[in-house]
Amino acid sequence: MHLLDERIAQFRKMANDDPDNELGHYRLGQLLQEAGRLEEAVQAYRRTLELSPQFSKVYQLLGECLKQLGQRADAIKVLREGFAVADERGDYVPRDAMSKLLVELGEPAPVPRPTTPASTAGQAVGGFRCRRPGCYMGQRARQLPKAPLPDDIGQKIFENVCAECWNYWLRDLSIKVINEMRLDLSTAQGAEIYDQIMRETLGLS
Ligand SMILES: [Zn+2]
Repeated sequence: MHLLDERIAQFRKMANDDPDNELGHYRLGQLLQEAGRLEEAVQAYRRTLELSPQFSKVYQLLGECLKQLGQRADAIKVLREGFAVADERGDYVPRDAMSKLLVELGEPAPVPRPTTPASTAGQAVGGFRCRRPGCYMGQRARQLPKAPLPDDIGQKIFENVCAECWNYWLRDLSIKVINEMRLDLSTAQGAEIYDQIMRETLGLS
């Protein structure tokens, strides 16, 4: 519990210092939810969605919090919106989780869009499917020319993360994470936190 409070404080600082960084608000929300501080988690998730409205998983987490808080009408609104976003993007895991939550709230299960031949064809001709939550490249996603790191994680990134998302992480987010969280990558703890945030950010965890 102590460690959780510490991480909440770290990410609270990151979210305050860099209020436009979706990553900080997202992680803050998850940690607050884990700690049972649902009203604060709701605020963090709402801010994440203002910054990154395509981030389908966040609608699911926000919906869970609102449902637990007994804010039924709000939960339904968020989950319906999130279902549409996830369905459009092909994020099936959060989409189906949101459908389940809606049913638990006594709502009819929303109907997914039929899979169009166009989207299947897009994949068949070599379209790359990026798994980073919040990737906005859709069918324009391109695969990296090779694994960006010479280890297992590098291979996973190569297989699951598009070139744009990797570059975004490398040139922008990773530097923010190191600066704002004052990570010392020469220590095992610093390197471990960095790795964990990288996996979470890129959708590999
Ligand atoms: Zn991507």
